[in-house]
Amino acid sequence: MVDFTPVATNIVDELAAIVGSANVSTGESELDLHSHDQSFHAPHRPEVIVWANDAQQVADVLKLANERRIPVTPWGVGSSLEGNPIPLHGGILLSLRNMNKILKVHADDFQVTVQPGLPYKDMNKDLSRHGLFFPPDPGANATIGGMLANNAAGIRTVKYGASKDNVLALQVALADGRLIRTGSRSIKQSAGYNLTQLFVGSEGTLGVITEATLKLSPIPEFSSTMIAAFPTVEQAIEAVVSVKGSGVDVAALEFLDTPASQTLVSRGVDIEPNPTLLMEVHNAHPESQEADVATVREICEGLGAASFVAIVDNTKAQAVWQARHKAYETLVQMFPTMKFHVMDVAVPISAYPEIIAFVQQQIMAGGVMAFLVGHAGDGNIHVTMPWQDEKSLASVKAMNSDIIHKAIELGGTATGEHGVGIGKAPYMADEHGAGLDVMRELKQTLDPHGILNPGKIFPTL
Ligand SMILES: Cc1cc2nc3c(=O)[nH]c(=O)nc-3n(C[C@H](O)[C@H](O)[C@H](O)COP(=O)(O)OP(=O)(O)OC[C@H]3O[C@@H](n4cnc5c(N)ncnc54)[C@H](O)[C@@H]3O)c2cc1C
Repeated sequence: MVDFTPVATNIVDELAAIVGSANVSTGESELDLHSHDQSFHAPHRPEVIVWANDAQQVADVLKLANERRIPVTPWGVGSSLEGNPIPLHGGILLSLRNMNKILKVHADDFQVTVQPGLPYKDMNKDLSRHGLFFPPDPGANATIGGMLANNAAGIRTVKYGASKDNVLALQVALADGRLIRTGSRSIKQSAGYNLTQLFVGSEGTLGVITEATLKLSPIPEFSSTMIAAFPTVEQAIEAVVSVKGSGVDVAALEFLDTPASQTLVSRGVDIEPNPTLLMEVHNAHPESQEADVATVREICEGLGAASFVAIVDNTKAQAVWQARHKAYETLVQMFPTMKFHVMDVAVPISAYPEIIAFVQQQIMAGGVMAFLVGHAGDGNIHVTMPWQDEKSLASVKAMNSDIIHKAIELGGTATGEHGVGIGKAPYMADEHGAGLDVMRELKQTLDPHGILNPGKIFPTL
């Protein structure tokens, strides 16, 4: 356990000298706002909030904190689901909110260079003028820094990849105040260790991302959304594996079990509650679009789909995807007095039927309420479990543990996209074995005083 220095008034003054007094706060409401993310994990307040305005300010704040042994937790918009940005040891909460600019659009190279506090939906709105978009799409309007730090993914990852697959270069402030650049704007890069990917997924424990150059994709000319309803979960999951294996390059392949499909119904999507697949294809020509839809329809109907609808009208399709994106918020509205535990294990696609069957057995045996929504095309499943007291939380946690162990046994991971944060830390030794020791060594090299987001990934730090 590291002994950190409390943030005394003189330190607040020194921070104000770096970022300006208007960009430092110890106000009660600000401390509360930055004490929790969107997960059920217990809140913990920072001692001071600092809003940095540029990379040099970030570096100067880190240098000061490193010299005085003060913890620093970077903050995007706090939309994490695993406690990732909760300042467990107090100290400085370093918000990147003011660093929210697009620095340069390299339209001819399908790239953009941005500051880390830019919310990705705002960025994509701006980029649409160039006919381009950044594909990773977690539902919340997360920042680029938070997405890279968590290696966030989403509905379109099955075609376009996760955040890690869509980043070329970074500027990073290290714990000792150095500013470094990693990667380059070349798509092909073989020049030494891949430091860019070291910082991606490191959840603010190795450095603070102060700039990122991202890969973009052209907005597709033609897009078709498909909804297939199945009599049983088994049939729906069989269809997931078959569609993936068909050669159709689906841009989204989402699964919802019957309870979860109610979230679509309650948002006005015209379906009967059933085990449901939501799918999308992106095409350059109407002929290839028709061929893809026909192939997917054939697979789903061949596996017993009770209904199959293809939507080409963009407004109707957007309404369906909006309902899917809002599935979590809809559940929160449906059960206003409850809290929610969200899992995000992922397995190789061939093991998807086995993990889903295992989850269903666990739900039956545990007698808990659960909603299954998954980025099925990536082998990822979110098991969302409402709870309201210590007893129900204990059942949920036991199920969570069993499902994670099963996913790891199947060659998968405890977390496909939400990151380790607080909740997944106990499973890192199981998942990585001696690899976790190497992660500790890297942490020790880059952050010897353990000031960066302490208490995450490695629970004992
Ligand atoms: C309704 C809802 C749906 C969601 N759906 C998905 C989904 O489909 N897929 C998915 O992947 N996630 C999903 N999430 C989770 C969340 O949106 C993502 O994890 C997102 O990446 C968090 O971004 P943020 O800007 O909120 O970062 P924060 O939560 O503020 O921070 C995330 C982590 O990154 C660190 N950090 C922040 N900025 C930086 C920086 N500049 N440099 C270094 N470290 C930094 C923080 O310390 C923290 O560890 C969902 C969340 C909600 C509420």
